[in-house]
Amino acid sequence: MASGRTLRSLTLAATFTFSATVQIETSAGDHRKSAFLLHSGFALPAVSGLSGELHSMSSSIENIVIVGTGSAGLTAAVYAGRANLSPLLIEGTLPGGQLTTTSEVENFPGFPEGIDGFQLMDNLRKQAAKFGARFEQGRIGSVDFSGQPLKLRTGEREILARSVIVATGASPRMMGVPGEKEYFGGKGVTTCATCDGAFYRNMDVVVVGGGDSACEEALFLTRFASSVTLIHRRDTLRASRIMAERTLAHPKIRPAWNSILTEVLGSPEAGVNGVRVKDAKTGAGRVIPCKGVFMAIGHVPNTEPFAQALDVDASGYLLPAGGSQVKTKVPGVFVAGDCADHIYRQAITAAGMGCQAAIEAERWLAEHGA
Ligand SMILES: Cc1cc2nc3c(=O)[nH]c(=O)nc-3n(C[C@H](O)[C@H](O)[C@H](O)COP(=O)(O)OP(=O)(O)OC[C@H]3O[C@@H](n4cnc5c(N)ncnc54)[C@H](O)[C@@H]3O)c2cc1C
Repeated sequence: MASGRTLRSLTLAATFTFSATVQIETSAGDHRKSAFLLHSGFALPAVSGLSGELHSMSSSIENIVIVGTGSAGLTAAVYAGRANLSPLLIEGTLPGGQLTTTSEVENFPGFPEGIDGFQLMDNLRKQAAKFGARFEQGRIGSVDFSGQPLKLRTGEREILARSVIVATGASPRMMGVPGEKEYFGGKGVTTCATCDGAFYRNMDVVVVGGGDSACEEALFLTRFASSVTLIHRRDTLRASRIMAERTLAHPKIRPAWNSILTEVLGSPEAGVNGVRVKDAKTGAGRVIPCKGVFMAIGHVPNTEPFAQALDVDASGYLLPAGGSQVKTKVPGVFVAGDCADHIYRQAITAAGMGCQAAIEAERWLAEHGA
């Protein structure tokens, strides 16, 4: 097998924007984004007309606006739609969310044979649309949650809402090295051992990073991989002592100290077959053969537009309030998914939070006479 993952004929030529934080943009390529929108009965040519039409509606107040159309946002939309709330979803730059960037999902309940990530999100989108969810292209750039109605601004217009669910996800950090985006999402480069580790049975893999997450990923991968090389730019791990000791003691894990990833190697047909690293001290280069590359250098929550209005932790993750997972300090504003969860980061946990947020929003609206 070429790489640990099934290589799909459908090109997963991910298009990334490597900015300060890596946004996995409409990853699977524009044609996939278009397909997603068109599949969903949301024809692209209509979109430009749509924004004008919506502009004229800007004085009406939405019952519920859901920001983001990943697992969390779309699940919230199913619940809000079935509660007759006619939710409005704002897509952001990655309609369908992160799962559209991966070819095979084996751990989402209900699919014993696994399901293509893009297909799963397309199904979920159709399910939401069936119950009256409305979709709008655009990115929320700023909000004013100081009173009712709540205000959200895209570049084009201001949206007024009685309740809001923020479900904007978190973007994995990437290195920005050659080969990384070409082999992302099904051809050997990934950001999630829990999601993709099982595809690398009896193969050599590398993990890039030196913190607790990198150690966790490396330890998890020892269940499947024949060897795990931990590539770290320093000569000690940043991880907590106990985690570092456990990691370095594992017979399948070997550290590549003072090593900086400079390139992911492979071929379009066979996927990844190695990585090139540079010695941080001597500058000497070498190749480490491997089939899988797990980036474990952190995630950046997409919460910047909300960071003034809501509480965030030191890393920018939205903080819930009042002993709830999804309520916030602002009445009528709820959070769901990876933007408020730095621990689990799974489609099913995001979906679960989307469900909770929609039920809470529905109750809040009922209590406040909507
Ligand atoms: C390569 C890869 C493989 C994975 N495989 C699996 C797997 O096998 N199983 C699994 O359970 N999980 C997997 N995951 C993790 C899973 O994809 C995430 O946990 C899940 O997508 C999180 O859902 P979410 O709705 O919280 O956020 P996301 O899916 O990240 O969606 C965020 C949404 O918010 C939108 N958005 C962001 N900012 C704004 C804004 N300012 N305005 C409007 N919209 C905005 C985006 O456009 C997007 O629609 C994988 C992740 C990756 C990257």
